[in-house]
Amino acid sequence: MTRANISVRADRIKPSATLAVSGRAGELQAAGKQVLNFSAGEPDFAPPSAVVRAVVEAAAAGPVHYAPVPGTPQLRAAVAELLSGVHGRRYSAAEVLVSCGAKHSLANLFLSICDAGDQVVIPAPYWVSYPDMAGLAEAEPVIVPSSREDGWRMQPEALEAVLGERTRIIVLNSPSNPTGAGYRETDLKALGEVIAAKAPHAFIVCDDIYRDLVYDGFTHVSAVRALGEELASRVIVVDGVSKTYAMTGFRIGYFAGPKEIVSAASRIQSQTTSGAATLSQQAALVALTDPSVPAEVEAMKDAFTRRRALVLEGLAEVPGAEAAPPDGAFYVFVDVSRHTGPKARHADDIQLAQWLLEEKLVATVPGTPFGAPGHLRMSYATDDDTLREGLSRIRDALASLPTA
Ligand code: PMP
Ligand code: GLU
Repeated sequence: MTRANISVRADRIKPSATLAVSGRAGELQAAGKQVLNFSAGEPDFAPPSAVVRAVVEAAAAGPVHYAPVPGTPQLRAAVAELLSGVHGRRYSAAEVLVSCGAKHSLANLFLSICDAGDQVVIPAPYWVSYPDMAGLAEAEPVIVPSSREDGWRMQPEALEAVLGERTRIIVLNSPSNPTGAGYRETDLKALGEVIAAKAPHAFIVCDDIYRDLVYDGFTHVSAVRALGEELASRVIVVDGVSKTYAMTGFRIGYFAGPKEIVSAASRIQSQTTSGAATLSQQAALVALTDPSVPAEVEAMKDAFTRRRALVLEGLAEVPGAEAAPPDGAFYVFVDVSRHTGPKARHADDIQLAQWLLEEKLVATVPGTPFGAPGHLRMSYATDDDTLREGLSRIRDALASLPTA
């Protein structure tokens, strides 16, 4: 009997749809096409100037050796200090693990916590990577739908319906990629009651990567504080420097949680990646501690605030496109279902996004890989001119389609 060359595990994994669209947009650009790119899930800014200076100086200063597997003591301490303030609970450096991006932190967590047959509860629309990460850990992703009418927030009844003995992890992502929706304190309290009643043994993994990027009076609410005393020790917070500090390529993320989990994830890390890149950890330390950085972050946030308004205004002119104003992150999740379906020119959002990219040279990410067919995700982490021109191309393109 012949065996397939690749493992069942590898065979099951889908490539990241967000990275795939960004990659294709890059190829078209490299071929000389003027692609207007709304697909990138990363700030278009340079990192804070103190960060750049620190990396150059550190590289010039001497040998760049391996960093300790769980992170440098300085960075772990800085993260513990920062997250203690955010979550109103004292974290020690030993409760923090630094990894190669928040994506790596999440993958480590799923691998550390789940066994075959365990369930990971994922509210939809979700960031494309969660279900595949659960699969990699041989756990079963359990998707909980939400709707635009509910502000794209998972409702307590919907969560209650899926919780049980097999629930190992409940993922919360606020503000969310792809919808930008954020949980308010009352939402979290209601979810906390349901979890405490039906799955107090589960871990709540809070992906807070967009915590700082909030608009229009929305403030991020810590789930450690809001879910209630009983659950606080079961909450694991995932965070990182990629989005807030425009440092996606540095690949530094971290989580804070029970020491037992930190130690398990650190063991996995010791046999897979080793510690995160030494220079990147030095850079991240500067991002978190240098007094010049917050003003530069504020300037980036001002730009995102302006662009968010620009996109929402532009979308109001696009026929058959509807979106809820996002609380945070840098995405707008647009319902384009009037332009998809058996009677429309495009059967689904995947085809529609492909047509927009290949024919109209506008890159968006279809909703299907986020668990929400009939939608397109638009990132506004790009300059104002690209946004204006791109929105007008989308308006003309969708206006040219017969509506279903
Ligand atoms: N979580 C969410 C919701 C994201 O959008 C991203 C973006 N890639 C990540 C985690 C991972 O970020 P990184 O690995 O760059 O820290
Ligand atoms: N999180 C970003 C996005 O959703 C970056 C790509 C990725 O890691 O998925 O576009």
